[in-house]
Amino acid sequence: MLGLMQSHPLLISALIEHAARHHGDGQIVSRRVEGDIHRYTWADVRRRAMQVANALDASGLGAGDRVGTLAWNGYRHLELYFGVSGSGRVLHTVNPRLLPEQIAWIVNHAEDRILCFDMTFLPIVKGIHSHCPGVKQWIALCDADKLPADTGIPHLVSYEAWIGSQADRYDWPVFDENTASSMCYTSGTTGNPKAALYSHRSTVLHAYAAALPDVMSLSARDSVLPVVPMFHVNAWGIPYSAAMTGAKLVFPGGALDGKSVYELIEGEKVTFAAGVPTVWQMMLGHMAQNKLKFSTLNRTVIGGSACPPAMIDTFRNQYGVDVLHAWGMTEMSPLGTLCTLKEKHRDLPEADQMKLRLKQGRAIFGVDMKIVGADEQELPWDGKTYGDLYVKGPWILGSYFKGEGGDPLRGGWFPTGDVATIDADGFMQITDRSKDVIKSGGEWISSIDVENIAMAHPAVAMAACIGMPHPKWDERPIVAVALKPGAEVARDELLAFFDGKLAKWQIPDDVVFVDSIPIGATGKMLKTKLREQLKDYRLPSA
Ligand code: AMP
Repeated sequence: MLGLMQSHPLLISALIEHAARHHGDGQIVSRRVEGDIHRYTWADVRRRAMQVANALDASGLGAGDRVGTLAWNGYRHLELYFGVSGSGRVLHTVNPRLLPEQIAWIVNHAEDRILCFDMTFLPIVKGIHSHCPGVKQWIALCDADKLPADTGIPHLVSYEAWIGSQADRYDWPVFDENTASSMCYTSGTTGNPKAALYSHRSTVLHAYAAALPDVMSLSARDSVLPVVPMFHVNAWGIPYSAAMTGAKLVFPGGALDGKSVYELIEGEKVTFAAGVPTVWQMMLGHMAQNKLKFSTLNRTVIGGSACPPAMIDTFRNQYGVDVLHAWGMTEMSPLGTLCTLKEKHRDLPEADQMKLRLKQGRAIFGVDMKIVGADEQELPWDGKTYGDLYVKGPWILGSYFKGEGGDPLRGGWFPTGDVATIDADGFMQITDRSKDVIKSGGEWISSIDVENIAMAHPAVAMAACIGMPHPKWDERPIVAVALKPGAEVARDELLAFFDGKLAKWQIPDDVVFVDSIPIGATGKMLKTKLREQLKDYRLPSA
């Protein structure tokens, strides 16, 4: 027997309709590429998203056609989020930090018909436009008078001219909620990148989940700063959850230095911010140097790579800001787990609470997870046994765009490529990417554990642990270290810092000092590149 409730598809257009209707005067604040601060409201977002939808109709784009963006976090990008998907086209956010050849490859593979870009990325567009014949229109996200005349890019128009003459009313179409809404290519450290293609249903369900109290706990009382880019996995879904809850949104544009981000947090009374550890490192450095404090920020979600314990500690104990450690991936829209403690942990000593906070956290409702061994048998949740982490759920990828890479699922589960433990309370902890695991004498050493300890040393800015071939033990860990400006520490002193923090056999054999640790386009350490740089390195004991 079927239930007798109304049946409405879950569509992204409903999010912007809700935000405009119920939080019409809610603010959206953006630091623009031009340098000034732009302010308007959720009602304005809807009005201009409708102009975008009309402009797409006028440009002849059909349902499902892809519209690419190369853009920072800002109000025009937000209008595209709702105008493109709401009208039935697919928003394809492209990571501008990739190499121009990779960007051109991705734009062609996605078959983008229109590409919208911030003026910061004009040099990229100048370089790639002739290699992207499928793009029929290039749109610069600026006022008409800011568009230089002699770019050499055919079919180039300013965004304001493109939408300016369009009506600001649009009847959002109603269609199957499983229709594609947006897409994002994975970082693709090996081989060509592959795309996750999100649907309206997956996006709306993810938006509900992200707003839950044990996830981002978003509400109409929040001022939210997504430092995580809208060009990578939809800024962790924050634009959608903000529209759903009526939160104020604050966009940093391209100014991600410590000073600019700090000033935006203070100036816009930000209560909640989300970012990867590298961005927060710059901001905390700026705050320490200038003896600054926060007046409104009370929590921050940190993810994308492991959050160093020293960062959780500084946010909590020096600034009174709760750090919520999160884990996810492009293929998961991206949220999978988030670390908040349970009622029974309230009275635990601070040190024990810290051990829990370091973990990537508990599965969000909608995400099912398990760890498996080499035989694909499920492993116990004892907080010690390591296994390959598998996930499933309604916002987790079933297959890649155009079927690239064949069927990625194993018995209905998506193998994440991460290795993790899960404890009896369901707290998951990532120990490594499976390809980065260090196997020494038949035992596994977690490179993240080694890096976390190294980064707790006051002289260390960043650390990356990799395995080096060893005749007796197969592999032994070494740690590559970039020091803070002006700081010094000797190799032996740093190795001694591990004593008592790890078992003897887990302590790295050597320290290699480097100027910087290579970072990829999504802010993660590029261990492949580091290995390449250290290809002539030999272990002292090998
Ligand atoms: P991406 O698809 O580019 O967002 O990368 C996803 C990958 O980033 C995951 O599979 C993890 O390896 C890594 N990752 C994300 N969040 C965390 C975290 N909190 N701790 C450790 N690794 C993380």
